[in-house]
Amino acid sequence: MSILIVEDEREIAGLIEQALEREGFSCRIANNGLAALREFEEYQPDLIILDIMLPGLDGLEVCTRIRQQATIKDPYILMLTARGEEIDRVIGLSTGADDYLVKPFSPRELVARVRALLRRSLRHGTQLQNLFTSAHFTVDCDRHIATRLLEEEQEEVLDLTTLEFKLLSTLMSYPGRVWSRTQLIDQLWGDDFFGDDRVVDTHIRRLRKKIEPDPSHPLFIKTVVGVGYKFEDEIH
Ligand code: CA
Repeated sequence: MSILIVEDEREIAGLIEQALEREGFSCRIANNGLAALREFEEYQPDLIILDIMLPGLDGLEVCTRIRQQATIKDPYILMLTARGEEIDRVIGLSTGADDYLVKPFSPRELVARVRALLRRSLRHGTQLQNLFTSAHFTVDCDRHIATRLLEEEQEEVLDLTTLEFKLLSTLMSYPGRVWSRTQLIDQLWGDDFFGDDRVVDTHIRRLRKKIEPDPSHPLFIKTVVGVGYKFEDEIH
């Protein structure tokens, strides 16, 4: 798997490269927007890590241009943002980014996010990856079984409705990613949905009752105020 890192701060670019190469990915670095477009054409990466704040052509513009170029191999794009107000622009993902990460982040977090994106690419291609795991949960979409790991290696099968199952697997497919209510509705109901997007809150509440030790202080399904929800757990 090849990854293009677009970041003008050389120290950060170097740290990202180090973390990814340690995991066996091959990387290239571009230090500005134009170089990124050039490298994209030459290198045809599977995934691009794209900082928004770049000199000249910024990350959002680079993302738009890459998406406009009709290539056979469409890369996954993970945006890096530094400021709160940028998140609103990225989260709609109308720029064509697949995911985003807010600085500062740990190398571990970055690697987890990259893996989640590439897992999705595998799933699209081969239907092989329908299993999501974290330290406390396993969701097996093929067998339609969700389990929670209890103490002393005991496993408990969760009694979830079809919707709750879909909700949990969607959230777990991207640990740490914030989903807006609209995005969750798209995943859960597709185009068939008519109604208030607050219905998502109801299902989240029910799911929390089934998986959280204390549903009023959730450990796994976190609310991101003003935006939506995310799943958090240690990676296996
Ligand atoms: Ca930058």
